Amino acid sequence: MERGAGGEVESKIHFDDTEVAFSYKSDRELRRANFIFSLVNHPFISSIATSLAKAGLALRLPIKGMIRSTVFGHFCGGETIDQSDRTIQTLFKFQVGTIFDFSAEGEHNEAGFDKAKEEILKTLEKAKNNPAIPFCVFKSTGLVNAVVLEKVQAKQSLSKEETEAFEHFQQRVDAICSKAHAYGVPMLIDAEDSWIQNPIDELVYSMMKKYNQQKAIVFNTYQMYRTDMLDNLRNAFHNAAMHNYYLGVKMVRGAYMEKEAERADKLDYPNPIHPTKQATDACFNKGLAFCVDNKQRVSLMCGSHNEYSNHYLAVLMEKHSMKNNDPRIWFAQLMGMSDNISFNLAKAGYNVAKYVPYGPVELVMPYLIRRADENTSVAGQSSRELTLIRKELHRRKLSRRLR
Ligand SMILES: Cc1cc2nc3c(=O)[nH]c(=O)nc-3n(C[C@H](O)[C@H](O)[C@H](O)COP(=O)(O)OP(=O)(O)OC[C@H]3O[C@@H](n4cnc5c(N)ncnc54)[C@H](O)[C@@H]3O)c2cc1C
Repeated sequence: MERGAGGEVESKIHFDDTEVAFSYKSDRELRRANFIFSLVNHPFISSIATSLAKAGLALRLPIKGMIRSTVFGHFCGGETIDQSDRTIQTLFKFQVGTIFDFSAEGEHNEAGFDKAKEEILKTLEKAKNNPAIPFCVFKSTGLVNAVVLEKVQAKQSLSKEETEAFEHFQQRVDAICSKAHAYGVPMLIDAEDSWIQNPIDELVYSMMKKYNQQKAIVFNTYQMYRTDMLDNLRNAFHNAAMHNYYLGVKMVRGAYMEKEAERADKLDYPNPIHPTKQATDACFNKGLAFCVDNKQRVSLMCGSHNEYSNHYLAVLMEKHSMKNNDPRIWFAQLMGMSDNISFNLAKAGYNVAKYVPYGPVELVMPYLIRRADENTSVAGQSSRELTLIRKELHRRKLSRRLR
């Protein structure tokens, strides 16, 4: 760490070392990444490819193998927990942990929700006493119908089935958090749309009260693109202090900006999202500082691909004289994205983990399409991912020539 000109601390961590970033990838895997990001870089080609893939799977054409060996292989661990072993071990060889993410978007009925719960419990079995899997995660809408959550939030009356469905959801979440607590495996609970988030938050805080007495096991997610989120975070901290439990914080910017704006517009209420990217960024970085300031009670996972925020968190840790591997601070990115951040942080000794999605190819397709959309370029520029991949391909070519 160095002192900057203004006397502030600067982290020595850099994210531009592509040799470190892609050390876990063979030449073949790197060429595959180049192919995928070149494809998704063009909005038109990307949308045709995703439509063809969707149609091909719906018509049961034999295209699963092709998807498995391209996009699926790049962004996912495997179709099952056991099939993901190779990915887990490869990441762990470079001190990067796996956060198992059952990403199959399955049937939205009670049987489907029970099946999802069982699958999440299996991820906990796999993570038990396994340093390669430091966290597990779930999404509430994999365990209950979003319509029920929306009605609860809107304080609308529920039918008998809906009341039962909500109770079953609470029971499923408790069963998962109870096992996470028994195994000592922290559990992240993803944040979703603002109109269903309140009942999720309420339930998550009741789980924290129950299971975060000794350390943070249950983590709530804070979407800092929401204008109310910094206050929510502060209130959550004060409640944790008042009731004497640890607060688990996964901080993200938020993934559903367009949906939020559309609904607010349609139903004529103020958009809950910050009006500018700068405002979201400022709120995110203030949130990081708040968590580090309150590290006696807060455990933090920074879920971000933003280089500045990851760098800033490293700076905050240094300012607070925290070790790079302080167990209260984690950095997390998605598999197949921002390896320059993950692997450079891990090499410098920070705690890093990747969300590793898994599930049957056809059920993971919506997840893969979201990743394709996210990496589609604006105004014909190459995405950051593509630029880094090409830089590393070039570096490897030169180093082979010099050998
Ligand atoms: C490990 C991990 C876990 C995640 N879990 C969740 C989760 O549980 N729930 C969830 O919603 N998302 C989740 N995400 C996704 C996350 O919220 C972001 O969509 C994504 O990571 C992009 O944000 P960024 O911090 O990487 O950085 P950047 O690429 O710098 O920021 C992009 C984000 O900034 C915000 N933004 C962009 N333009 C504007 C604008 N004009 N006005 C206001 N804000 C703007 C949006 O949130 C956008 O996604 C997760 C991401 C990771 C890496």
